[in-house]
Amino acid sequence: MSLTTLDSPTAVAAQAAGDATGIVIENLSKVFPASMGVKSAAAVDGISLTIEAGELYFLLGPSGCGKTTLLRMIAGFIEPTGGKVLFSRGGETRDVTYLPPNRRNTGMVFQSYALWPHMTVLDNVAFGLDIRKVRGKEREQRAMEALEAVQMGEYAQRKPTQLSGGQQQRVALARAMVIRPSVLLLDEPLSNLDAKLRIELRGEIRRLCKASGMTTIYVTHDQKEALSMADRIAILKSGKVVQTGTPRGLYREPGSKFVAEFLGETNFIPGTIRKIGESGVSIETAAGTVLARTALPVGCGVGANVTLSIRPEAMVSARNESVNVLKGRQKEVTYLGDTVQRVVELDGGVQVRACVSNPGWSVAESPNSPTALAVEPADVVVLNS
Ligand code: ADP
Ligand code: MG
Repeated sequence: MSLTTLDSPTAVAAQAAGDATGIVIENLSKVFPASMGVKSAAAVDGISLTIEAGELYFLLGPSGCGKTTLLRMIAGFIEPTGGKVLFSRGGETRDVTYLPPNRRNTGMVFQSYALWPHMTVLDNVAFGLDIRKVRGKEREQRAMEALEAVQMGEYAQRKPTQLSGGQQQRVALARAMVIRPSVLLLDEPLSNLDAKLRIELRGEIRRLCKASGMTTIYVTHDQKEALSMADRIAILKSGKVVQTGTPRGLYREPGSKFVAEFLGETNFIPGTIRKIGESGVSIETAAGTVLARTALPVGCGVGANVTLSIRPEAMVSARNESVNVLKGRQKEVTYLGDTVQRVVELDGGVQVRACVSNPGWSVAESPNSPTALAVEPADVVVLNS
């Protein structure tokens, strides 16, 4: 099946976005009881989120931050110790907090595909239909449609052990989608695959979700996966949501050092706010004055000590800019073909990374020579220190 067919409405993808399910999570918590010397702690600690109908929503955070626990509470596999899960559809809102999983119309894909080895691919996919007592021709047809949607139609009679990792994961996806769930829940579905396949499947899963109009919640610790696929992302840390936003919004306007660092490489430079004016905020650093044209943290005024976050790709060699020039010394230069990575020690001692894309034949300055970097005011993020 070609990519163009994926975009056209099939029976699997028949759900109109109009009657898709929206999800509201209200102050949701899960405290696991203490056991075997491990103290009781909140795995999910008062999370509130609103996920729009038809949205591809990511829960992103480091290992152990509570992503799986939150997803399993939305699926109904774990009972919360506090808060609510609400599903709304066609103007009607249902409190599903304590509803068993099979009554929520959610499909779930796990990190390990959990296919049954003794059953054919088709029977694995049809399992959800068997439980729902869909029999005979309709069972066969719907299972095949789901398999075709993930380009696995021709493998229907194989056993899972005769498939590659990527193919098994496609089957797992078909198995979750065959019941035509209104909510699809994916827990690190690509983490067992090699890098190339992971990147390939990112685009496919996104297309599938968007074509079907399903509301999808996708859990990952991989920020590239989240940035490249998500409509919106919630960033989690220690059981709490630290920030929500679009991929671009979060990358360009992180609200904390944690988010800035978690979403990609960045440089932190300490400074002090000297002036707040029409053209932006002036921050004095040991390497020079920096003008920032982005929002200030709440309560930050003149005289406040702050941290600037500037991405390596926003740091370019200074030519003859009059503002935002940071002086320092070249430390290391690494040629990587598509880019050159520079390490520069700024006056005052902070080491920063600068990334030159499409370097061509140009050679960066030799180690220890004085150098200067420039940055656009719109690329400077001011954070609490
Ligand atoms: P993530 O999916 O983000 O890696 P989890 O939701 O799996 O995180 O886990 C969050 C925290 O809750 C971790 O500290 C983990 O050890 C703990 N936890 C998860 N499941 C249980 C359980 N069944 N019993 C006790 N603690 C658990
Ligand atoms: Mg997990």
